[in-house]
Amino acid sequence: MQKRQIENILYAGVVGDALGVPVEFAKRDSYYINSMTAGGTWEQPAGSWSDDTSFTLPLMENLTAGGDYEQLMKKFENYMFHNEYTPDNLAFGIGHSCAKAVRNWSVNHYSALECGDPSVYANGNGALMRLAPLAIHLADEPDLQKRLQATYEYTCLTHRHPRAIVGSYIYLEILHGLLNGYALRSVLDRLPDQLNQALQNRPDELAELPKYDEVFQNNFGMTLRKEIKSTGYVVDSLLASVWCVLNSTSIDNAIILAVNLGDDTDTIASLTATISSCENLKDSVKAEWKNQLRNPELLASIIVPFAKKEASRALV
Ligand SMILES: [Mg+2]
Repeated sequence: MQKRQIENILYAGVVGDALGVPVEFAKRDSYYINSMTAGGTWEQPAGSWSDDTSFTLPLMENLTAGGDYEQLMKKFENYMFHNEYTPDNLAFGIGHSCAKAVRNWSVNHYSALECGDPSVYANGNGALMRLAPLAIHLADEPDLQKRLQATYEYTCLTHRHPRAIVGSYIYLEILHGLLNGYALRSVLDRLPDQLNQALQNRPDELAELPKYDEVFQNNFGMTLRKEIKSTGYVVDSLLASVWCVLNSTSIDNAIILAVNLGDDTDTIASLTATISSCENLKDSVKAEWKNQLRNPELLASIIVPFAKKEASRALV
């Protein structure tokens, strides 16, 4: 992958997040947006990105530096308690499981891999939303078991229920297939068998695979919009994002479809933007949106070195 393509993927995710922020938790069809706007629950100026990006940036920075999980948790702590990795020195809207995990590390001194909540009630999209850089990092890793193990560990930092973990597997494997040149439809066709085989020794995870069955059906893209749920539940968010990509012909259209679904708009638009960008590697998100992102210096200071390192690694 080229440096420019990696940057495009990561900036698209931030754009999706920022477009979704003003309408996060809004009811579907109570609004329509197709541009950067201000407002929302957190009353942020246009171009403000949220916790999705603020958890993604530390992961990127940590991968660039070759840091370990404890060092990554420290960066999450710096975000949550010291407002680093934010547009405007303000951490807002952090999901319950992520906040709890950071407190587990920071206050209760858990080891990083045990910080995630293992409860069935902790199955939000809070791990999925930060994992795009990991998919890029693993793009040329040919061993599925190695990819799953890394995905497992990076998910466990905040989410340890097998359903959230399997959601991360599916998302990362979708991105892996796209980054290796396969079409989304063909990745979805092959994935259930691959995961079924690969998870034979992980029965708790295998048992969660059917929760995601719908997304693999060959007519999933034809699902009516009203049947697509856009909540922060990991299954809903992943299905909604894939549905948006299946029903659009460009990154920008996919994002607009996602932000207008309502409810967890920022995360779903960010996931959608990431999947769509991996599918359309020659395309990039609208420059006008990218140029409206707040704190562009901070974004560039983390995204550009990460892209440079990953692009040069891929050539070796
Ligand atoms: Mg958010």
